[in-house]
Amino acid sequence: MKINIAIDGPSAAGKSTVSKRIAEELNYVHLDTGAMYRCCAYTALKHGLSLEDEDAVCALLEKTKIEMTPDGKIYLDGEDVTLAIRDDDVSMAASDVSKLKRVREDLVKRQQEMAKDKGFVMDGRDIGTVVLKDAEVKIYLTASVEARAERRYKQNKEAGILENDLEQIKKDIAARDEQDMNREFSPLRKADDAIEVDSSDLTVDEVIAQIMQYVNQALEKKESHA
Ligand code: C5P
Repeated sequence: MKINIAIDGPSAAGKSTVSKRIAEELNYVHLDTGAMYRCCAYTALKHGLSLEDEDAVCALLEKTKIEMTPDGKIYLDGEDVTLAIRDDDVSMAASDVSKLKRVREDLVKRQQEMAKDKGFVMDGRDIGTVVLKDAEVKIYLTASVEARAERRYKQNKEAGILENDLEQIKKDIAARDEQDMNREFSPLRKADDAIEVDSSDLTVDEVIAQIMQYVNQALEKKESHA
């Protein structure tokens, strides 16, 4: 018997790392919805579109194929964009296009279609509030801006990306938080029935252990009602 798990939270809180590991542990599918907004932004930038031009961005998105493979690769119309969409420029551009109502409608529809069945760990900003409102486990994963910026800096360094220094990363994260929390459509917020986990002083393993407790409780509850 399977359930769905929604993991929302601000940028660089560790949602993807944690979601991926939980999906592996449960043999579930991990869906990183942020990657879809990043794909939309990447292709809009590549085509020289204004990120405020809702008609043009949506028309392009409608004919864009986004594929996500089980090994974590992301293809945009057949092109491997796994690394390219992680660029700092694409991060802010993703936040820009995610303000557009019709972009959200298009991507939310795709996400809901992909996760028609149970057995998904989906991470993003609006999973518990919009995409999977009936998810059995909803987590709001957060951490201080300092902790998130340091982690992102370390991650970038390990990946050989040295575009920005720690101060710049901190500023970018704070700007993206501000924009994602205050946009008109589906702003980032904790769902009323979500459990908040603050990972500032926790290791990845500790965060996973905490979330797995809630997951196991939900699975037991589901089985006892079957
Ligand atoms: O999670 P990630 O940082 O890759 O997301 C990039 C951007 O996409 C976020 O800053 C946010 O604006 C947007 N996003 C969203 N809704 C989601 C996932 C991401 O608005 N479900």
